Amino acid sequence: MTKYVFVTGGVVSSLGKGISSASLAAILESRGLKVTLIKLDPYINVDPGTMSPFQHGEVFVTEDGAETDLDLGHYERFITTRMRRVNNFTTGQIYDSVLRKERRGEYLGKTVQVIPHITNEIQHFIRRGAGEGTPQAVDVAIVEIGGTVGDIESLPFLEAVRQMSLRMKREDSAFIHLTLVPFIPAAGELKTKPTQHSVQKLREIGISPDALLCRADRPIPDDERAKISLFSNVPEEAVISVWDVDTIYKIPRMLHQQHLDDILCRKLALDPPPANLKVWDELVHALEHPQHTVRIAMVGKYVDLSDSYKSLNEALRHAGIKTASKVDISYLDSETLTPDNIAQLDAYDAVLVPGGFGKRGIEGKILAAQYAREHRIPYLGICLGMQVATIEFARHVAGLPQANSTEFDPNTPQPVIALIDEWLDRDGTVQTRSEGGDLGGTMRLGAQSADVKPGTLAYGIYGPVVNERHRHRYEANEHYLAQLQQAGLVISAITQREHLTEIIELPQSVHPWFVGVQFHPEFKSTPWDGHPLFTAFLRAALARHAQHAPTAQPAPAA
Ligand code: GLN
Repeated sequence: MTKYVFVTGGVVSSLGKGISSASLAAILESRGLKVTLIKLDPYINVDPGTMSPFQHGEVFVTEDGAETDLDLGHYERFITTRMRRVNNFTTGQIYDSVLRKERRGEYLGKTVQVIPHITNEIQHFIRRGAGEGTPQAVDVAIVEIGGTVGDIESLPFLEAVRQMSLRMKREDSAFIHLTLVPFIPAAGELKTKPTQHSVQKLREIGISPDALLCRADRPIPDDERAKISLFSNVPEEAVISVWDVDTIYKIPRMLHQQHLDDILCRKLALDPPPANLKVWDELVHALEHPQHTVRIAMVGKYVDLSDSYKSLNEALRHAGIKTASKVDISYLDSETLTPDNIAQLDAYDAVLVPGGFGKRGIEGKILAAQYAREHRIPYLGICLGMQVATIEFARHVAGLPQANSTEFDPNTPQPVIALIDEWLDRDGTVQTRSEGGDLGGTMRLGAQSADVKPGTLAYGIYGPVVNERHRHRYEANEHYLAQLQQAGLVISAITQREHLTEIIELPQSVHPWFVGVQFHPEFKSTPWDGHPLFTAFLRAALARHAQHAPTAQPAPAA
């Protein structure tokens, strides 16, 4: 029997509803409960994968190949339950499903309406996300409702969860509302009015929160919490102060200290063992006591370098925890890199070229790969970063001076990177190689396995099999692999199903650490386990750092 915690947001967006929900989930998981998280997005898009990362931040990819909201990345970094396609849905998907049913005549000629048809569909999707009636069923599903109370768009979601809780026993659901308590410098005061209004709005639609999470830039004093309690009709102990912290991994401890988990367990009539937040405390301790600093140059498109690399930034931070180092990331705009200024990479311990789409800034990335290769700077290329490293090697080492990807030059005479059907078509083997018709111009998405070649760097990191998640269209062109390998490029992993190039590297005799991967390892990094590829990358960076560190103290002045 699954219990539900519905998390709504008030006043403004971007208060960290995802992190708060995930932190609560982490505490409940530490108490031995099986937990999952579900994100409801109020926008109309049916496919979040097609949304601009500049507007919406990173697209997170699940094991089963769903392109989802980046909050699912937070969820996987806080709890051990893996997210699936069903853990995230949008208004567009709900309508899409209802409209298809209507077309199939499933509503038997009835008038199809927001209430009850849309709201029922939402409830059905929520229960499916919680795995009800399947072996995946959880004890507690935390349902995060995107948007802000009062938005037109999120009304059907709120109505749906209100109905859902009404249909359940009292102890089977709980509501948490996250709001903002702004500090007004001119008055020198925290203001509780916006919270008051937002809770009122929630009550108007029939939802009374069991706990309030009050976001502020500082801890909220008890007298203010008492005031909030009075006007919101939420017991004072359930008015929780969530202040700004330097690392998100402090939030589980902060919420637990104020007994949020106990408050919810009481409401949900659950009596699990006490919380154990040791792993979070250790993480925070490691983050705050690094022994070294590594400087990483992340070379990307200027516009990309923000929220669009959430998982990647976290994966580097996790590797920092594993190697007792503080990771200092500098974002270099590849469009500004030229042969005249590329030597600036010398100042870094390692170079990382992350994933990306489109032609802009490509030559700067190729230049960065070349410089890292020639100057023996540790290099990690992820997805697009592997493709540019391949192009660079083809051009400057393998005698293919016009090498390119058909993504950047559709007419390139040397398409070392291309769409599968562009290069398979040439010898007519498309039918035999493309199994589900899901290749070619469509994205390769989700987890896939590849065999790793013994004796390579990749083998030392992964062992015989690597299983990682993908999100790309273009592939290393099989027709050029022999030529690249003859010139010294090592293909260290090949996918089991389609025999596609999964990892490339340089032999350690010519370069200390140069690796390109066609997948996105960052999606599988967790703060507690880190990720072996990022840890190995940081170790290589640390080794370079140690070499370059001044060994002798400057001689004292005479
Ligand atoms: N644009 C490249 C492709 O589609 C790389 C994608 C990526 O880096 N995620 O294959």
